[in-house]
Amino acid sequence: MKFYLIYPKWPKLTGQTEFHLPPHGPVVFAAALPDDVDIEFVDENLQEIDFDVTADLVGISVMLTSQIQRGWEIADTFRARGTTVIFGGIAAMLHAEETMAHADAVFVGEAEGRMEALLDDFNNNRLKKLYNYLDDQPPVELIGPARRDILNRDLYNYRGIQMVDLMHASRGCRFNCYPCAVAYLGGRKFRPRPIDIVIEEMAGIDNNRLFIVDNSLAQSTKWEKELFRAMIPLKKNWCSHPIEDDPEVLDLAARAGAWYVYQAVFDTSDLIRDRIKRYHDHGIAVEGTILLGLDEHTEESINRLIDFLLEVDLDLAEFTILTPFPHTRAFRDLEKQGRILTHDWKKYTADQVVYQPRHISPDRLQELFHHAWDSFYKDESQHMKMFKLFKRVMEREMASNTYRPRQRNKADRVFGRKKA
Ligand code: SF4
Repeated sequence: MKFYLIYPKWPKLTGQTEFHLPPHGPVVFAAALPDDVDIEFVDENLQEIDFDVTADLVGISVMLTSQIQRGWEIADTFRARGTTVIFGGIAAMLHAEETMAHADAVFVGEAEGRMEALLDDFNNNRLKKLYNYLDDQPPVELIGPARRDILNRDLYNYRGIQMVDLMHASRGCRFNCYPCAVAYLGGRKFRPRPIDIVIEEMAGIDNNRLFIVDNSLAQSTKWEKELFRAMIPLKKNWCSHPIEDDPEVLDLAARAGAWYVYQAVFDTSDLIRDRIKRYHDHGIAVEGTILLGLDEHTEESINRLIDFLLEVDLDLAEFTILTPFPHTRAFRDLEKQGRILTHDWKKYTADQVVYQPRHISPDRLQELFHHAWDSFYKDESQHMKMFKLFKRVMEREMASNTYRPRQRNKADRVFGRKKA
């Protein structure tokens, strides 16, 4: 069976330097397909979709709400030509009902152990419109190594510098933060993968730089310590969402190659200031993720927050605007209060105001968002800050004899000039 797997394009965040990471959802999904399925993958952010391809089945993997409408357009084109299309991924789960109008089947849930039955239905002309396994997660032991071999790895570099490879060591999250859909998507239970399997997968990745994309590593102190201890011999450098602010965990993380972490900066407290300092004290850089437009935010508090970010010496900052994604508490509240201004999902890019903020006008919040990016990167550009982060990782690799210079190739020359 020939399976054409597509990752639709989406607009990048305003203000953010454009680079492309190898996608994670499609390669994890591909690992759940039976071995005899011949997969051809296209990342529309960097490659052209071949609408004339000969394939038994087209799969559309969507991560972001802002990708979903493009996914529907692609599906409509293939289905008009008589090709069967199935959808999966986070955004398909968040938008399952609407997506059914554009799909032969929508898969909701985690794919491991489920694909054989779905393909059997397809082969016997009894495909169902919806496969909903949201409340029936497969055992984490079934998660095999992601099929990174389906990617054109040469495309994923930034000005000739190899980007990170994405990897996950756990699923689920025991927290339920206000703007986040993970509780809906992956459940409130933390589900770590067996550490030996995780380490084997990491060791097999032909890249010394990883992005551990787990929702949050700060879920179980014991597990974090075991994981980091086991990672030390791999000599990888990695970034991740937050790790626990505990001296022993931070020490082990640093020894395991923690390069930088994403840390939500939601206020100007000493707690945040000290946490950033502790990361830095352990040689771990910090990229602040700053969400603007929460109900408690006023113009003054946002300006104070921007000043604070400069004081605490973040290595990078990424600003977003509160966006009420479906199946989040934010969506439920704002919908109930009649404050959602549009359901045009193309605008749900997290850099556009799509709801009525409590204390500021939508236009003013939009201006403050641009002001935040401009102020943070006024004295040192984002390119320069990113360069410093990559310089840091190259120095570490040189010190540990793991640095591998890349040959510039055709894909590098194309990068930044041509977007499919
Ligand atoms: S924001 Fe992070 S920590 Fe909070 S619920 Fe979502 S994944 Fe969990």
